[in-house]
Amino acid sequence: MDRLFPIDTMETTCQDCYKCLRQCPLKAIRIEDGHAKITPDLCVACGICVQVCPVQAKKIRLDLGRARHLLDQEAEVYVSLAPSWAGEYPGLKAEQMICALKRLGFAGVSETALGAQEVSAAVAKMLNRNGLYISSACPSTVRLVRKYLHDYAANITAVHSPVMAHSKLLRQHFGDAIRIVFIGPCIAKKTEADEHRDLLDIALTFEELNDWFRQMKLDPYTMTPDKNDRFVPFSAEEGALYPVEGGMITTIQALGAKDTVRYVAVSGIDNICKTLKGLEETSLQHPVFVEALGCEGGCIGGPCAKASGALLGKRILVEDHAIIPPLPVVREHTLDITETFTPAPAAPPAPDPALVRDALRRIGKRLPEDELNCSGCGYNTCREFAAALVRGTAEETMCVSHMRALAQKKANALLRSMPSGVVIVDAAMHIVECNERFARMFGPETTEIYETCPGLKGCSLAKIIDFTDMFRTALKFDQEIHYDHFRYKNRLLNITVFSLDPHQVVGAVILDVTRQEGLRDQIAQQAQEVIRRNISTVQEIACRLGEHMADTEILLRSIAEGYACDSGRLAGKPKEKER
Ligand code: SF4
Ligand code: SF4
Ligand code: SF4
Repeated sequence: MDRLFPIDTMETTCQDCYKCLRQCPLKAIRIEDGHAKITPDLCVACGICVQVCPVQAKKIRLDLGRARHLLDQEAEVYVSLAPSWAGEYPGLKAEQMICALKRLGFAGVSETALGAQEVSAAVAKMLNRNGLYISSACPSTVRLVRKYLHDYAANITAVHSPVMAHSKLLRQHFGDAIRIVFIGPCIAKKTEADEHRDLLDIALTFEELNDWFRQMKLDPYTMTPDKNDRFVPFSAEEGALYPVEGGMITTIQALGAKDTVRYVAVSGIDNICKTLKGLEETSLQHPVFVEALGCEGGCIGGPCAKASGALLGKRILVEDHAIIPPLPVVREHTLDITETFTPAPAAPPAPDPALVRDALRRIGKRLPEDELNCSGCGYNTCREFAAALVRGTAEETMCVSHMRALAQKKANALLRSMPSGVVIVDAAMHIVECNERFARMFGPETTEIYETCPGLKGCSLAKIIDFTDMFRTALKFDQEIHYDHFRYKNRLLNITVFSLDPHQVVGAVILDVTRQEGLRDQIAQQAQEVIRRNISTVQEIACRLGEHMADTEILLRSIAEGYACDSGRLAGKPKEKER
């Protein structure tokens, strides 16, 4: 296989937000080196991850170059045009679309709906025994059933998908030497083309077609078609209803399937799973046909359909384009479109529960109440995430609450190790965080409170110190304020108050220099340097605590090492390297 999987992640663009993982109904995304990568064997090419990625880091393989190259070859190339085109290009006449496509170099344009009609005719005849029948029309659904609902793989109707049936039909009409390019809203068709290269050469999306039109400065709406600009070998009728939910069912009913058949239309991967999982086929007292489409609303809601425009509007445009012949419709199909579908289980086996428990412990989930199931990691539950850790498809740093707790612990440890008193306060002059050294600076009562309420969170600063004015000023003017030898009771303090979040949060680093007063000149410069370092650390801590960070440990460790030296210097000891 010389083609890459149709969806890939641009690692340099990926922001590690895990939104794609959260939304992927099958968790077919693994996190590797911090980036969300698709596991092709688990993926059904539904395209949800492409649609939800906020920075467009999920890219659909572009096959435009391949299609253009095909047109440069000797063989005639035909378009298999998905019936959803009518909803994508509102107001465009079929003849104009055909004319524009032929200008690109195609020998002719045919409707995939012709293949759909072949499929419906075959399926209508099949529905004659009680039991479950799942449509084979959507390649994403077929992948889903074979991989994840494999007990029902044999229930997929044993016929090609419409595009495969159409490819056979075109080859029957125009000869085996022709080449075929499908154009539609579907990513899964690219996987279908990759797997059936003998029938379908390339699948393009409407987005790729629009790019092509742009590159060629072709506006299909301005085309003036002639009498030869018609669908070949003939126009489709009811098959054009396939891209809307329930459309295939309408065609099967029109073809006179038995009255005893029960029909269910379901769209969206999650909904298909909910509809089928756990179903006992023996409980069905009728032939039950499930029209299952991977995209919600059907192909008109496909991943490469225009995001703008209500589905209802597109549905009406598609329905208006379809022609329902007088009932019952009689179709003689002359093609062999038989295809059998076998199970192809993809979901890995559940990991050993003991290993899952270990993994849970590693991310700080020791008790059931620790399991927040917040989905911050992208998985629905902490246990699913832990199972992914065991499988090696996730990384511990993905658990936001774990990383937060870790960062908090380390920040606290760092605050404790700092040689200065540190306090962070909000706009209401309530303490957000402080270290023990700060509490000890301001009396035994404050120290006592600190012991029962570490960090003094929520305490009023004004009840601890009487020089809150400098904090208010720093807040109000978003300024840094510095006092050298600020006299507080019988002590001398070097104080720097600085902004952490403009007008919202300020921090202060307070160094008691009373003991060093005798060595004032020698020590002043060193003290100032320590304060500077402390400020940047507090800023770093305040900023990093609010983020998901992977390098907290390295950062904090390196800063902490720096403090070991600073403490020594202030105590008059030379720095290691100065010895
Ligand atoms: S949605 Fe996925 S691919 Fe996009 S930025 Fe987030 S993690 Fe990366
Ligand atoms: S295409 Fe669908 S199944 Fe595949 S990774 Fe994306 S969301 Fe998951
Ligand atoms: S519903 Fe249609 S567009 Fe969506 S995956 Fe299936 S065939 Fe493709």
